[in-house]
Amino acid sequence: MKLKRDKSNQLFQEAKQYFPGGVNSPVRAFKSVHGAPLFIKRGDGDRIYDEDDNSYIDFCCSWGPLIHGHNNEYIRHAVLQAVDKGLSFGTPTRQGVEIGKLIVDNHRYIDKLRFVCSGTEAVMSAIRLARGFTGRKKIIKFDGCYHGHVDSLLVKAGSGLATFGVSTSAGIPEELAQETLVLPLNDLAGVEETLKAHADDIACIIIEPVPANNGLLLQDTSFLVWLRKLCDDHKVLLIFDEVISGFRLGFEGAAGYYNIEPDLITFGKIIGGGMPVGAFGGKAEIMGHVAPDGPVYQAGTLSANPIAMAAGMASLELLLKEGFHESLAAKTQGFVDTIQSHADGKGYEFSIQSIASIFWFAFTKNRVVTADQIDPNSMSKFKQLHGELLERGIYLGPSGYEVGFVSAAHTEESLATAASHICEILDRIHAA
Ligand SMILES: *Cc1c(COP(=O)(O)O)cnc(C)c1O
Repeated sequence: MKLKRDKSNQLFQEAKQYFPGGVNSPVRAFKSVHGAPLFIKRGDGDRIYDEDDNSYIDFCCSWGPLIHGHNNEYIRHAVLQAVDKGLSFGTPTRQGVEIGKLIVDNHRYIDKLRFVCSGTEAVMSAIRLARGFTGRKKIIKFDGCYHGHVDSLLVKAGSGLATFGVSTSAGIPEELAQETLVLPLNDLAGVEETLKAHADDIACIIIEPVPANNGLLLQDTSFLVWLRKLCDDHKVLLIFDEVISGFRLGFEGAAGYYNIEPDLITFGKIIGGGMPVGAFGGKAEIMGHVAPDGPVYQAGTLSANPIAMAAGMASLELLLKEGFHESLAAKTQGFVDTIQSHADGKGYEFSIQSIASIFWFAFTKNRVVTADQIDPNSMSKFKQLHGELLERGIYLGPSGYEVGFVSAAHTEESLATAASHICEILDRIHAA
């Protein structure tokens, strides 16, 4: 039985007249899965509802911000109260101070921070700060990490080990791309060699400590610990891009989870509770270089506007409830275990990588730690899984390279339903 999608399809045809590809962010276009994008009109708890009135258990969760699920009552209430008083003043506000205090009081590694309006903006500003602070030009990033659409980070490795980067988007000057060195993940020797050769030119190493934008490439803790040490040895700043992992692996994110103190951390997604918010922060000495205290310029018309701050504050307050992260992680683990034990029982080449409330379906039994260990051919299996799950009322992000999220609003019943559909579809995929 085919779900009706007439209204979504119609809207997509229309949207294509107004927007490139019919969308305002490329992965939404469903290019790597079957069919056309669903137009969602409403979300509630663990479900979203499309224009044709189909409902789906949602594991995309707006790509990560919605750790409390859709239309959370506490967050909604906080936002509505703020809206009553006006949307933006372009001045400091009490709400800004309160959320700043909440974060600094509860995060060992944040002395000071600056709010911005997206994860990309946070990363872009942190990179500028690292360059301004160290007086150095080059940066190191890792293949398989995504840091938003920042010019100097839309870069992949050139040929050969530790060569200068080449841009992955038109419109980025090669001179700029060449200031970015791209290395494989989990390869300490590669980092060590590169630092030895270029350390005096390198401002920072930026990494997603939990790389979750190209599959879920969980790193060895020892790799991250050594990165910290190498950065200290060479006076290179270590930036953790925690736009996904921040506030999700615990209030202190991956830095707290692994007990590693980065020099700077970037945030987005959860910090805004569903509103456009990002932030970067870290050691006071480094943050002291940001304008107006210091010479590194950074500004924003709508930065820390009271509506966004109200949503962010409510979202973060809920995280501080005793046992929040533990119970969400346990719920996710149960979901993952159900599917994994089914797949193992049948001997499928399949595993679910997961940490905290993040999961990713890998169509291999091997551990996947670097970007090039992902077999592009396995994406046809994801495509089938995605398409059949939609038919059964379960929504995954429309790409096999994207992770899924379990929110606090996911009920045990929804997770059991989703798990049993996933197991059935895995049987169909592997019977073919
Ligand atoms: C989503 C993401 C970004 C970009 O954030 P936007 O709000 O989409 O600009 C940057 N870094 C990481 C790790 C992300 O997951």
